Amino acid sequence: MPCCSDCHRAFVSLHSLFQHCRDKLHGQICAPCRRIFISDTALNMHLRDSPRHPEWIPPMESIDE
Ligand SMILES: [Zn+2]
Ligand SMILES: [Zn+2]
Repeated sequence: MPCCSDCHRAFVSLHSLFQHCRDKLHGQICAPCRRIFISDTALNMHLRDSPRHPEWIPPMESIDE
């Protein structure tokens, strides 16, 4: 069951979780793109893959390889 990483509420579907995140501004938000991700992992993957925001540094951990 998908669950909000901010308030730990469970949802019946990913769709309703995304709606909740949008309404409450919960979850992980990529500010430059205004996109919402349901987990740190999803956000970090987006930041790593997207060339759109080279100056944006992930708040939780730095990507250091
Ligand atoms: Zn929530
Ligand atoms: Zn982004």
